[in-house]
Amino acid sequence: MNILVFAEVRDGKLKKSSLETLSEAVRLAGPLGGKVGVALVGEGVKAHAETLGKYGAARVFVAESPRLKYYASEAVAKAVVAAHQKLGSGAILMAATSMGRDLAGGVAALLGTGAAADCTGVSIEGGKVRARRPVYSGKVYATVAFKKSPAVVSLRPNVFLAKEVGGAAALEDLAVVFEDADFRSAAREVAATSQGKVELTEASVIVSGGRGLQSPENFKIRDELASVLHAAVGASRAVVDNGWRPHSEQVGQTGKTVAPNLYIALGISGAIQHLAGMRTSKVIVAINKDPDAPIFKAATYGVVGDAMEIVPALTQTLKKVLAS
Ligand SMILES: Cc1cc2nc3c(=O)[nH]c(=O)nc-3n(C[C@H](O)[C@H](O)[C@H](O)COP(=O)(O)OP(=O)(O)OC[C@H]3O[C@@H](n4cnc5c(N)ncnc54)[C@H](O)[C@@H]3O)c2cc1C
Repeated sequence: MNILVFAEVRDGKLKKSSLETLSEAVRLAGPLGGKVGVALVGEGVKAHAETLGKYGAARVFVAESPRLKYYASEAVAKAVVAAHQKLGSGAILMAATSMGRDLAGGVAALLGTGAAADCTGVSIEGGKVRARRPVYSGKVYATVAFKKSPAVVSLRPNVFLAKEVGGAAALEDLAVVFEDADFRSAAREVAATSQGKVELTEASVIVSGGRGLQSPENFKIRDELASVLHAAVGASRAVVDNGWRPHSEQVGQTGKTVAPNLYIALGISGAIQHLAGMRTSKVIVAINKDPDAPIFKAATYGVVGDAMEIVPALTQTLKKVLAS
């Protein structure tokens, strides 16, 4: 079975989550003797084909247009479908970013097939694709099958390992003609909220703060710890609702879904809606003064104590350890 991957380019860079998705496609296609193709769609994106080849893409299908400077659902979906038709793929994979989640539905609708969003596992046996995905805010995992082919699957960022395998992809232009009707909905402008900082959904380390940090000023202890660890910063909804931190930092059911290698929760109770956004993190460290806080049930390591005392001490110690 051939597998098509959609590669997302943001600010001129290939998303790490797209490389993770590509590596997973390579891992799945290998035993099946299938080829992995990549749809590369946007403005001036062709140069990324070389990197995609290094990560195992055999064919890269390019659709470029100045009108695709920003994401346009229908136009990009049309190009992905054109790439799928060239490759003859049995599965179409993309990262479950905001763009990927939107695109998966559009591609599935165009092809009259089904889409599974935010998956943490994929298997292909006997030509049948199965996807594992968290449901009920991550309390349960469901394994879903597809009635029709191709299966459209978006993969949760930071769950799969991106691995360079060496190689070069054949570059093929997709002769897609974009029409005005393909741009009925399109982004006109992108206002970056996290310029210069590590993007939350791509980060491998995240330090998040909750209401237990007590005031907006105290978030500097979160930021200092994050800076030492080159981490992204997150927050609970309680602090976002209080206006202490912007919504772009919110982790959880109504915020961002993250799955870093390390998630440090400072003064966060661990409500189910917060856990929904971070419980698939590989290692969770919780600092909370209440030994019965639900976050400790999800945590790999827990420290019971006052974050205002522990965090500055931890930051100082890490500074010394990382400098030596
Ligand atoms: C539909 C819906 C959607 C929601 N979506 C989200 C979402 O996306 N993300 C989200 O986070 N929440 C979400 N919530 C809210 C969620 O239910 C919780 O209210 C919220 O997560 C609580 O935030 P918190 O843990 O910071 O605050 P609190 O629940 O007030 O917890 C603060 C914690 O800090 C500890 N603490 C206090 N002082 C200290 C100290 N000095 N040192 C260490 N620890 C201390 C306390 O023991 C406590 O455990 C949603 C709720 C609903 C109903």
